[in-house]
This record gives sequence, C-alpha cells and structure tokens, in this order.
Amino acid sequence: MKALVIEDTVTSATLICHLLDKMGLQSVHARDGEIGIEMFKQERPDLILLDIVLPGFDGFEVARRIRQLERDGEWTPIIFLSARASDEDLARGIMVGGDDYLVKPVSEIVLKAKVRAMQRIAQMRYSLLVLTRKLDDANRELTRLSAVDGLTNIANRRCFDETLLREWRRAERRESPVSLLLIDVDKFKDFNDGYGHQHGDECLKELAKTLVSCLHRSTDLVARYGGEEFAAILAETDVEGALGVAEAMREAVITARLPHASSTVADHVTISIGVATVVPERRDENGYVGLILQADQALYRAKREGRNRVAVAETVRLTEAG
Ligand code: GH3
Ligand code: MG
Ligand code: MG
Ligand code: MG
Repeated sequence: MKALVIEDTVTSATLICHLLDKMGLQSVHARDGEIGIEMFKQERPDLILLDIVLPGFDGFEVARRIRQLERDGEWTPIIFLSARASDEDLARGIMVGGDDYLVKPVSEIVLKAKVRAMQRIAQMRYSLLVLTRKLDDANRELTRLSAVDGLTNIANRRCFDETLLREWRRAERRESPVSLLLIDVDKFKDFNDGYGHQHGDECLKELAKTLVSCLHRSTDLVARYGGEEFAAILAETDVEGALGVAEAMREAVITARLPHASSTVADHVTISIGVATVVPERRDENGYVGLILQADQALYRAKREGRNRVAVAETVRLTEAG
C-alpha cells in the first residue's frame, strides 16, 4: 500500500513518513500542491495525507483537483492535516472530497487508527469492484447462453423467435422482403438407429457449422429450430436470393459427405429445405406466423417430392408488392 504525503513543513512530513513506514506503508512526499497533484497522477497512491496550509493553492483546492482526476469508480482516501482544528476547516475538508481529518502534531496512535480505517474502506471498495466485474461477466455470459443452442453452439429457438419478430418489424417499416428457410435433415431417425444417438449429435454439430458457413450477410441468422431442424432468417432478401442460399446449403451438406448408409436418398447425409418470402404488410400483427407456415408447407413438399431438394412456397409475394 502506497501513501502520498503532501506537506510543506519538513519536520511534520518526516515524522509522518516515518510513522507510515513503521506501519508497513510505502510513502512518497510532495512539498506543495502542484507537485502533489503531479505525484498523484504518476503514483496513483492508495491513501493521501494532505496539509491544508500549503504554498500555492491550499489543501482544499488540491483535494478538489484530485477528485476531478480520478477515473470512474476510483476513490483515493484523503486525510487532511492541519495545526488548526476548527469545525469549519473540518466541514470544508469533507465537502471538497476529504474523508477524514488529523490535527498536527500527529499522534502515532491516531494516525495508525485512521489509516487502518481507510485501508478497510479501500479494501471493501476493491472487493465490491471485483464483485461487480464478476457480476458483469456472469450477466454477459448468461445473455449469450440464453441465445445459444447447447449442442450446436449456434443460435437457439429463443434467439430465432426474437430475431424473426425484430426483422419482421423492420421489414414492415422498410417495405422490404424477409425470407425464411426451414431446413430438415433427411432420414435422420434412420441415422440415429444406424449409428447411435451420440453420433447423431455429432452429425448435427457438423451440419450447424456447414449451414453457418453458407451465410454471408451480418443480418443473416441460422438457428437450431428444434431436434434435427434448422431455420435461417434472411432479412432484405427476395425469393431469388433466398433460393440461392438454400441451394448453397443443400450443396454444402452434400460436399461435407457425412456418411449415412441407411438413407434411401443417398449414401451420405442430405437436407431438405422449404423457402418462403414475404413483404410484411402493416397491420398484419402475426404475419410472421404465416411466413413460418408457408416455409413449413414448402419443406413438406420438398420431402414428398423425394428429399435432398429445395422447394419454394407457392404463395410468394415478390418484391414488387412492396
Ligand atoms: P425425414 O426425412 O422425413 O425428415 O425423416 P426423419 O427420420 O429425419 O424424420 P423424423 O421427424 O421421423 O425424425 C427426426 C429424428 O431426428 C428423430 C430423432 O431420432 C432425431 N433427432 C431429433 N433431435 C435430435 C437430437 O438432438 N439428437 C439426435 N441425435 N437426434 C435427434
Ligand atoms: Mg503547511
Ligand atoms: Mg424433422
Ligand atoms: Mg428429418
């Protein structure tokens, strides 16, 4: 612990530094306020002992300036020193930012007690700071966890719901299209039956990575929709753009060549995708539910028509509708 002693009277300064040294505190000494403030900036002491009567600006002014120099959340205890012990001096010292008051000549016992008290407060402040930082970190982690799927590490259903609602509202204001892709793994029950559930989980992780790699805009989102289903939200994307992304995803999964011996579609894992695009209409409060429904119907058709394919919802309203 480091103390800064701002005191112009040499005998008094020497005595105080000696007593602090005896208490195990490292101390630095400044002869006037200006030097004191410079030393405060350089040394960032844990405690300041500040004389009131100083050449140049007085102790009250030094305290005021030091308080201005402190960063957010920083607080260095200041104990005023004075030969005079008037109530007014004490009150003023506290008002300008001091924490306590010592009458000169300084008594060893009183100095010791006051330094201990300040150390205790400083320690508590520090503990509180550490705790606050830990809480901030924990909160950030919680926010992240509440949006991420535990298995695949991509956005979860909750994040999907929030994002879709947000993008829907935005598209409504801009009268721009929103596209939705519902992605379902083909014959995944058979995959689990053949390779085991554990292996199935690993496969879902690989698929999630592959799907993410197909997105290029910062506003695009792919989430685990549930089980072996994924969903992608593509803001400001018309049906042609959405089809492009869907086709790229389908092909990327083929390129990944994840073996699936019991699939009736191919000898590797494949996906089917339903695509829907809508320009939201104002006053259509739950319009996004319709978008999901359309994408789901398209997905169902992709399955019916043989899987490993992309199907577009039939009732697509194209961009010119906006
Ligand atoms: P389809 O081509 O018609 O989609 O056939 P499918 O077998 O994929 O469809 P179905 O809905 O009958 O089965 C989905 C299967 O996905 C059921 C379950 O075995 C598997 N599944 C769902 N969630 C998980 C998961 O979190 N981990 C694993 N390993 N398997 C899952
Ligand atoms: Mg003095
Ligand atoms: Mg399914
Ligand atoms: Mg499936």
